[in-house]
Amino acid sequence: MRTITYHEPRSVDEACQLLAELGSEARVIAGGQSLMVLLKQRIVDPGHLIDIKRVAELDHVRFDGGAAHIGALTTHRAIETGQPIRGKLPMLSEAVAKLGSVQIRNWGTVGGNLAHADPAGDLAPILIALGASVKVVSARGTRSLPLESFFQDFYETALGPDELLAEVEVPEPAEDVRACYVKESIRLGDMAIVGVGAALAIDENSGRCTNIRIIVGAVDRTPVRASRIEEALRGALPEKKALRDICQDGVADYHPLPDIHFSSDYKRTLMAVLIRNVLEKLIYGAN
Ligand SMILES: Cc1cc2nc3c(=O)[nH]c(=O)nc-3n(C[C@H](O)[C@H](O)[C@H](O)COP(=O)(O)OP(=O)(O)OC[C@H]3O[C@@H](n4cnc5c(N)ncnc54)[C@H](O)[C@@H]3O)c2cc1C
Repeated sequence: MRTITYHEPRSVDEACQLLAELGSEARVIAGGQSLMVLLKQRIVDPGHLIDIKRVAELDHVRFDGGAAHIGALTTHRAIETGQPIRGKLPMLSEAVAKLGSVQIRNWGTVGGNLAHADPAGDLAPILIALGASVKVVSARGTRSLPLESFFQDFYETALGPDELLAEVEVPEPAEDVRACYVKESIRLGDMAIVGVGAALAIDENSGRCTNIRIIVGAVDRTPVRASRIEEALRGALPEKKALRDICQDGVADYHPLPDIHFSSDYKRTLMAVLIRNVLEKLIYGAN
């Protein structure tokens, strides 16, 4: 039988101190929804668990300096239902409502979801599309990095063994920005077969697309950008019927990783369809 020593810090400093002392011997636990599965299957086997659920400093949503600051312990449900996020970042609330079930959203945390780095996670595509960055803390100090460079491989992030994900910072979108997330899953609330988050602005004089970002989850080891489609639409005034070709051509170079249910070809086709759906919704307001 193995023994795991359980720690329950009450502050970020205390949690960082424990991480500095224990390093890769320890795992942080937040909601435990993903970590417990890994522990049961012995995919991870830490000697120490650092339970951060009682670190109140990590449970906050603040708006200042033109951005939302979302503490790592904020639950999915708080983002889905809480003001002022619903008012200022409605696209984020709507995206989170597609994650799991109410029970899962009541307990799972933003920090846990991102640090777990499941390529099919629902938060990364919409947050990257919105230009989010993450604040990471340790006993050595604090650093920020774009969320886009946080994901490094399957279930791997840029977090060092002594680091804690403390906060997600999401810039408040300008008034002309439109963004949304769509996913396709086998059953409502399942992980995505493919998920697409996108944001763009439409120039009010010319009607052209600017600042376009399209992020696709569940097709590769980390979320990927649909760069060719972004390029085709940047500064363009796309006609609705041209979008189908732009999306089909734009995914031709991708070879999505197949899974036990779906082939790579199926996922590539789904990628094109979902990206087109998102773009039609954002550009023309279609459902
Ligand atoms: C039945 C079920 C259905 C689900 N459906 C979906 C879905 O449809 N879409 C989706 O995106 N997700 C889904 N999830 C995942 C879930 O929503 C949580 O987001 C996810 O499990 C992680 O959150 P957590 O707080 O439970 O993290 P934990 O399980 O506690 O931790 C996950 C990982 O992150 C690390 N970690 C946690 N917090 C931090 C931190 N602050 N700093 C550094 N490392 C940290 C842990 O060490 C661990 O490696 C589902 C989960 C379940 C159980």
